Amino acid sequence: MRDTWLVSGGAGYIGAHVVRSLQAAGADAVVIDDLSTGDIGRVQVPFVEGDIADWRLVADTMRQYRITGVVHLAADKQVEESMREPLTYYRRNVVNLMQLLTAMAHAEVGRLVFSSSAAVYGMVDSPLVGEDHPTRPINPYGETKLIGEWLIRDQARATGLRFAALRYFNVAGTASPELADLGRTNLIPMVFDALDRGDQPVIFGGQHPTPDGTCVRDFIHVQDLADAHVAAIAALDEPGASHVFNVGCGRGYSVREVIEMVAEVSGRSIEPRVGAARPGDPAMVVADTARISRTLGWHPRHDLREMVRSAWHAQPRQVSASRG
Ligand code: UDP
Repeated sequence: MRDTWLVSGGAGYIGAHVVRSLQAAGADAVVIDDLSTGDIGRVQVPFVEGDIADWRLVADTMRQYRITGVVHLAADKQVEESMREPLTYYRRNVVNLMQLLTAMAHAEVGRLVFSSSAAVYGMVDSPLVGEDHPTRPINPYGETKLIGEWLIRDQARATGLRFAALRYFNVAGTASPELADLGRTNLIPMVFDALDRGDQPVIFGGQHPTPDGTCVRDFIHVQDLADAHVAAIAALDEPGASHVFNVGCGRGYSVREVIEMVAEVSGRSIEPRVGAARPGDPAMVVADTARISRTLGWHPRHDLREMVRSAWHAQPRQVSASRG
């Protein structure tokens, strides 16, 4: 029998890519999404519009579609917003996860892939951050993701639930234009927006303890990230499977290097302005990816150029502007 995965948040940027990867791997998918940030246009599989908080709806959906596992991505993900509205983040990222686990227990669904985040680490004190690095999140977003991992781990110990928590690093790019990131709060879309307005992008801080003084991040193509979910699912065949994996490229790029890549790909000349550092921004966060490559045999296949290129060409206005 084919597996059928319930993808919560499957109308979102990452979720829609995960659905495609599942299908490419021969599995079926059903999407549940409240469309708070998701786009129904991305969904081409059975779809339930609803809130994960409604565990009876979720359990009924699981029974109706004979769901064999859940990929849980439905969550809020903006760091600054989480600092302004912690209750929203605890409710949507923690309470709703409890509701999802309740539904899974009722419907006897025993496999879960959870979207966690590099934000669980907080300030990082080594050039590469491995999964055993201390987790000291510095904002409610990161806290809710870490609490989510704990909740799942405890439920797994109690019930035999099999899980993989994937700690995403900085996700970018798109597999096709219709699945592009519509959010405007991350570095690459913010650089595009500045160019669109005829402005120069702003670098948040030029005095960080990094080679060029700007923050360093590990960028991962959304297609590679989606494929990591499929690889993680394969590891859930083992009874007692309980995994935590970093999902990044294992290579850092500075904010200045990313902006230079945008200039190269777009053909625009860019002279970024260096502004004030953003409070709470860690200087350097780069994944140690040894565990996921060793355990799952997963390796990223797309580089930063492809991330920037695919994201840039998914923006119709900018494509025509760059040609004009
Ligand atoms: N950043 C920047 N200018 C911008 C947007 C982001 O300098 O207009 C920097 C930000 O300070 C961080 C990096 O780019 O060092 C990545 O930021 P993003 O918000 O995309 O992800 P984060 O790593 O904070 O989760």
